Amino acid sequence: MKREMIIETADRLKTLPPYLFAEIDRLKGEAVKKGIDIIDLSIGDPDIPTPGHIVDAMKVAVEKPEHHRYPSYTGMLTFRQAVAEWYSKRFNVSLAPENEVVSLIGSKEGIGHIPLAFVNPGDIVLCPTPSYPVYPIGTMFAGGTPYFMPLKEENSYFPDFSSIPSDIAKKAKLMFLNYPNNPTSAVATTDFFKEAIEFAFKHGIIICHDAAYTEMYYDNRKPVSFLETDGAMDVGIEMHSLSKTYNMTGWRIAFAVGNKDVIAGLGKIKTNIDSGIFQAIQEAGIAALKSDESVLTELRDIYQTRRDVLYNGLVELGLTSLKPMATFYLWTTTPDGYTSSDFTSFLLEKTGVLTTPGNGFGDPGEGYIRFALTVSSERLKEGIERIKKVL
Ligand SMILES: *Cc1c(COP(=O)(O)O)cnc(C)c1O
Repeated sequence: MKREMIIETADRLKTLPPYLFAEIDRLKGEAVKKGIDIIDLSIGDPDIPTPGHIVDAMKVAVEKPEHHRYPSYTGMLTFRQAVAEWYSKRFNVSLAPENEVVSLIGSKEGIGHIPLAFVNPGDIVLCPTPSYPVYPIGTMFAGGTPYFMPLKEENSYFPDFSSIPSDIAKKAKLMFLNYPNNPTSAVATTDFFKEAIEFAFKHGIIICHDAAYTEMYYDNRKPVSFLETDGAMDVGIEMHSLSKTYNMTGWRIAFAVGNKDVIAGLGKIKTNIDSGIFQAIQEAGIAALKSDESVLTELRDIYQTRRDVLYNGLVELGLTSLKPMATFYLWTTTPDGYTSSDFTSFLLEKTGVLTTPGNGFGDPGEGYIRFALTVSSERLKEGIERIKKVL
């Protein structure tokens, strides 16, 4: 006799918003079926392979039996030392590898897990919007309630702390920030970070700054680290990922640095949930962090050429876009009469150019679309030419 059991998911899965890229995949699938040649500018995944010296370090490390066993939970000391050296060289921030650095299996993992360490059911977590969707989702998984801080063009895409009601600030335990910002490409100033730290001190809020794009910058204007600001080490941490910096999205390696109590809390969750990063990958990570500066300069030059092609093309088309000083995203307003999803569908159907609708990152993203610079300059030019013909 065949028996049936109804498998019911927990409420936390039922309350999830629809996954942004699922709808895009569906649209893409339909376009492919129609035989449209797609120029995919929808996802933030570098198209350029991982630099060869990093792959070579992995090849050597993978042969060593000592790396075949469980790694240390917090990351090999040599990896954490390489992180500390990198921070000192790049940002002049000094970190103790022993207790101010923890490895992460990608920063998505760290963002998803940190609320479990600090958020009790009913606590508020301040999340920017539009944003990377993991901040509110990690919050909800921990039983916390996201409070959305809108990032508006008129505030240079910084949250307005003075508009956060005092009862919300009182109940807030954690705040996520992300600069250089995905999807808007906005870059933080030291003054903004100072303001955030004052607000955090006043209300006892931990800051978790997602710094995934600090190395993807243009015109030689280096973004600052949150940890460079006075007081930052007292209120929070910063997460940085090797994913975008060294074209290593598939490898799953990142780290969190900063306040040792926050690092310890996050580390405790990880000790109980995962067992760290494959050590051969950490060896590759060390090789990445010790890379010659020319490796990153070459990548920046490629992205800067692409940025110029797309930005100039959009300006010519009359589409307004913030010229990115960092990140590989262009945050562009839709023409009059088009919502974000109207314009995304229009571009895909008429030109094969696939973008991400801005409202998918949160309500204030309505009226924008996001272009990612993840194809060659030639393809970007082709995309602009096609759009020119239909607009
Ligand atoms: C790509 C990205 C990350 C990095 O994720 P990994 O898990 O380290 O690959 C983190 N935050 C933002 C905003 C991103 O766009």
